[in-house]
Amino acid sequence: MNIYGQTMEMLQNYFKSFGENPAKAKIVFAALYRDKISSFFDIAELSDTVKTRLAADFEFSGVALVTKSETETTCKYLFRLSDGHTIETVLMKHAYGNGVCVSTQVGCNMDCAFCESGKLKKVRSLEPHEMVHQVLYLRDVLGIPVSHVVLMGIGEPFDNYENVMNFTDIISHQQGISIPARHITISTAGIVPKILEYASRTAAPALAISLHAPNDELRNRLMPINRAYPIRELVDAAKVYAEKSGKKVTFAYIMIHGVNDSDECALELAALLKGINCYVNLIPYNKTRSASFEPSSKERVLEFYDMLKKQGINVTIRREFGGDMNAACGQLSSDYKQKKCSQ
Ligand code: SF4
Repeated sequence: MNIYGQTMEMLQNYFKSFGENPAKAKIVFAALYRDKISSFFDIAELSDTVKTRLAADFEFSGVALVTKSETETTCKYLFRLSDGHTIETVLMKHAYGNGVCVSTQVGCNMDCAFCESGKLKKVRSLEPHEMVHQVLYLRDVLGIPVSHVVLMGIGEPFDNYENVMNFTDIISHQQGISIPARHITISTAGIVPKILEYASRTAAPALAISLHAPNDELRNRLMPINRAYPIRELVDAAKVYAEKSGKKVTFAYIMIHGVNDSDECALELAALLKGINCYVNLIPYNKTRSASFEPSSKERVLEFYDMLKKQGINVTIRREFGGDMNAACGQLSSDYKQKKCSQ
């Protein structure tokens, strides 16, 4: 087992299981995440017997950096996991701090029409420690302070629900990496039963939903998950989360020229979301090499924004992270593989 995949509760149960004081879990967490130890024998507060047992039961191994590409505002890292698969992690430099965009699976089965990652079919879900290591590599190996985490990299977080919940528990714990839950956002393509389960958690991190269309007909084309969980059910589940958590839900909406950016779409979207504690984040589509879509013009994005505003919807336009470095999700992995293949 990897020690970085243990939540506080798991470690407490571990100590209890052989008659030790569960409070030792806090000592281990502080040693791992505050003192950044790489051997249990460096923890002065533990007895030699406990250290030896920990060393026998847990390992420390992390991720290895394969390559990176960067711009002024983003840096994209390709990491190799212990089984040889690769994942990507993106650092986003905001005025208010650094955000890390974490991958949750190797590949993704959601098959969204506009996404490069959808072309890399899911191989497996990531373990909690493999997500923790994406954050730790940036914070501890590269020395980059991390204030926010978004689960918007490769993979559908709610298709890896338990591991993702354990990951957010670990990084938000005060003795852990201590990133407040309000600074963590889980982004889903819309797995409705999991949204409802998530809504019943106390102090759950923020929720973002990749909506990208205002009706079933269009969303079925862009996001096949909509055939399993139609848009009305999805929006109702988002409403439950907003009401139970008291937090705004973010609806992400990629603006694609001639597909989902008409006046009719704006009005339909406003009607769909009316009365929900939410805001819409308009994201200029980032054209990829293989995609058949085109981005909406800046003027069209602004007109769409104005129409939503006039209908009383909270709306923002996202800064185009990574548009100039081929950084939309999944692209670094596929590029890397292509380069390897052609060598
Ligand atoms: S947009 Fe997200 S959910 Fe859809 S295929 Fe890409 S990684 Fe998967």
